Amino acid sequence: MDLNFTKEELAFRDEVNRFIEENYDDEMRAAMARTRTGYIAKHLHIRWQKRLNEKGWLAPNWPQEYGGPGWTPVQRYIYDQTMAAAGAPIVVPFGPRMLAPVIMKFGTEAQKKKYLPDILASNTWWCQGYSEPGSGSDLASLQMKCEDKGDHFLCNGSKIWTSEAQHADMIFCLVRTAQTKKPQEGISFLLIDMKSPGVTVSPIITIDEPSAGMQEVNQVFFDDVKVPKENLVGEINQGWTCAKYLLEFERGNAYSGNLKRGLDRVRRMALAESIGGGLPLIQDPAFSARLAQAEIEIMALEMTELRILGQSRSGQNIGAASSILKTRGTELQQMVTELAADAVGYYLMPFNPLIEGANEPIIGPDYADGVAARYLNMRKVTIFAGSNEIQRNIMSKLILGL
Ligand SMILES: Cc1cc2nc3c(=O)[nH]c(=O)nc-3n(C[C@H](O)[C@H](O)[C@H](O)COP(=O)(O)OP(=O)(O)OC[C@H]3O[C@@H](n4cnc5c(N)ncnc54)[C@H](O)[C@@H]3O)c2cc1C
Repeated sequence: MDLNFTKEELAFRDEVNRFIEENYDDEMRAAMARTRTGYIAKHLHIRWQKRLNEKGWLAPNWPQEYGGPGWTPVQRYIYDQTMAAAGAPIVVPFGPRMLAPVIMKFGTEAQKKKYLPDILASNTWWCQGYSEPGSGSDLASLQMKCEDKGDHFLCNGSKIWTSEAQHADMIFCLVRTAQTKKPQEGISFLLIDMKSPGVTVSPIITIDEPSAGMQEVNQVFFDDVKVPKENLVGEINQGWTCAKYLLEFERGNAYSGNLKRGLDRVRRMALAESIGGGLPLIQDPAFSARLAQAEIEIMALEMTELRILGQSRSGQNIGAASSILKTRGTELQQMVTELAADAVGYYLMPFNPLIEGANEPIIGPDYADGVAARYLNMRKVTIFAGSNEIQRNIMSKLILGL
């Protein structure tokens, strides 16, 4: 693998940096400095995403025919790494990264025309309705009922842990359209307008959160919700195929750019924190060995990402390899936040809740701001998008053939 960039690739990196300089404004930077979840205020995400879209960069992984930039794998790598190094906002994944590939593969021409340009323009905000109370890892047991009423579907039930549902205009849902011996065979993939009568969003407050209104997850209730027939994606009772396909895109991300930035932050903390005798924490042999180990593991993940993502064409799914990236990426995310927690020592104890716009002075040095909230929030990553135990089951079956 030749990791030296060509002249054109270096010029592309400069262009990405220029874009960041010109478009990543102070308001976004202030919000990113205080996010614990990776999400910032919706209007800031929309502003950022619209700027990316004007440049043609909103959906690096889409095929060109649908509005992707047609980059080489190296350009995609440079883009990801450069954005992550600058700490730029994420593109909220539910529409562009997760739903769009399903519409491209299983949607009708009318659905492609209706939803894809809208996702690129960030006009519609999506959320994901897969999990239910009682159906998480065993997702195929889901029970949200969807009845065919002739000219429409009628939905009843609830979805849980629905990230960012309070901001969403639409939700893509897995619903039960038949009671079959094999539960996977009675599931359909349905798009539901969150403003439909009968939809209620109820916040779930987690350990890292200061109050409702800033929640990450919700429960969504559906009481006699009417859904137009044209909102079914793929065939009736074939939704499980769409569901699995979407999950490959949800899991198969590049994690290493953000991990490197997180580790740099820990390194700066370890230079500033003292272990007594005038020595900084970074000179503590046990701590510096842990830092080195994290760096080695992040480099190894970066090579794996290059190998797996570098082989795929834009818009192509990567199969069970997505479980490798998800498992290693999230384990290392937790490792980095644990290192940060240990680095700040006592300053982990006061809980600075990271409220955007809050003007209370933080306790301790600036770099301790939000370390506890981020540490607590990162407990989620080995659970969501399918827990890491489930990813290991997938790898053992589909990659190792056990
Ligand atoms: C912050 C956050 C955001 C989320 N966002 C969304 C969202 O937007 N939309 C959505 O639909 N869902 C979302 N989820 C839900 C997530 O997908 C589920 O939490 C996850 O699939 C696990 O399901 P569960 O919570 O029901 O745990 P369970 O399935 O009850 O699992 C409990 C434990 O048992 C283990 N386990 C279960 N079965 C097996 C097995 N067969 N082999 C080995 N171990 C097993 C699990 O690994 C886990 O440790 C989110 C979750 C979190 C924490």
